[in-house]
Amino acid sequence: MLLSRFFIPILKENPKEAQIASHVLMLRAGLCQQSASGIYSWLPLGKIILDKITDICKNEMLLAGANEILMPTLQPAEIWKESGRYEDYGKEMLRIKDRNDRDLLYGPTNEELVTDIFRTHVKSYKELPLNLFHIQWKFRDELRPRFGVMRGREFLMKDAYSFDIDYESSIISYNKMFIAYMNLFKKMGLKAIPMKADTGPIGGDLSHEFIIIAETGESEVYLEKELLSFEGILDKVDYDSNLQDIVNKYTSFYAATDEKHDPKAYKKDLNNLIKSRGIEVGHIFHFGQKYSKPMQANINTNIGSNIPAYMGSYGVGLSRLVGAVIEANHDEKGIIWPKELTPWYYNLINLKNGDDDCDNICYDLYNKIKSMSKTVLYDDTMDRAGSKLAKADLIGIPFQIIIGPRGINDKIFDLKDRKNGEIQKLSYDELINFISTN
Ligand code: ATP
Ligand code: MG
Repeated sequence: MLLSRFFIPILKENPKEAQIASHVLMLRAGLCQQSASGIYSWLPLGKIILDKITDICKNEMLLAGANEILMPTLQPAEIWKESGRYEDYGKEMLRIKDRNDRDLLYGPTNEELVTDIFRTHVKSYKELPLNLFHIQWKFRDELRPRFGVMRGREFLMKDAYSFDIDYESSIISYNKMFIAYMNLFKKMGLKAIPMKADTGPIGGDLSHEFIIIAETGESEVYLEKELLSFEGILDKVDYDSNLQDIVNKYTSFYAATDEKHDPKAYKKDLNNLIKSRGIEVGHIFHFGQKYSKPMQANINTNIGSNIPAYMGSYGVGLSRLVGAVIEANHDEKGIIWPKELTPWYYNLINLKNGDDDCDNICYDLYNKIKSMSKTVLYDDTMDRAGSKLAKADLIGIPFQIIIGPRGINDKIFDLKDRKNGEIQKLSYDELINFISTN
């Protein structure tokens, strides 16, 4: 990609409305733009990252055996009246009337709608277990939208829903999602920590939140130190195997959000317990028959008929993750994309655009990198050298290849690692060799 052809409206000044680093950087590096309080347009760089996060999440759901569907953003009020949540949900729910005076709402979550789909089609235990997921915009009229996309009003969520014949099998479905979550966050280059959590208005008896430790996080959390370095997840998970042991390993550590924190429940040395802050990027719930019973989503089993299905629901905050990833990966100069999510691997910077020698060598490298099937953003703009270098640090691509007249004379090329700032001085062959092996 040529930077001169890429729509990336960079802001020179820190925007006044942004309080935390990720929000500042998302606006400054042109990832998104606010259209109304808590509602954002996604600009090209933001959209690329959002799509990468979405793809990783979606692929893990498919690996775990879930079926992708797509439910609408607008839902009829009737099904929410059936479950009893229409009144309970309060002002966070955006309620709308159509031209025929029918009550609609913009979905804040989809338990009712997916239960309605399920009860229409599934009647027998032979069709279970079933997990249906979708990736769709949600709307919650949050009291205090803030921190950019982290607490928006409109936000993108992956939500999955499991249906089982009894309690035991629904725990198997829950465990699959627990492990899938550990895996998908890892594939995004993130360390998410599962914590015992409150079930809130979704209801139910078993629930975990997945938290990324960050000072600016909205949740107060308590965890055992060892969890921060614990690497329990397998690279290749067989989702059909018994996952209880791995789940047990994770949950054997103490980790809880403040609503669930109980120091008396921690039997070991209290010095091992740390209080921190975190960003909730995922939340899973097991709630049994809470929705299937009032909505009569019944199945016939070999022990009886018309037994309400056992359900769980599983959410990942995809748009919030863009902010969370930046919160976990930045410095005072800008974003530092983890390799797993970066839009390009190399940022080729021509410090003197218009100089024949610089232009020739840059185009040669640009084409060569692409021919090696590596991704590259080429800064071919007419900006000053200083501003190009600052922009590259702001955008945060892992490696910068910096080309200027001095280097060309000496046949030396600067390769900068964005993460630690180190610059290697390489010959042309060494540079090509580096690119072909990284
Ligand atoms: P929170 O406690 O942060 O309000 P929640 O518990 O209400 O979130 P869930 O219903 O569990 O959220 O939704 C699943 C996921 O969707 C959350 O883990 C979070 O990552 C994301 N999410 C929830 N609310 C928002 C929001 N207002 N803006 C962006 N993402 C959100
Ligand atoms: Mg939650």
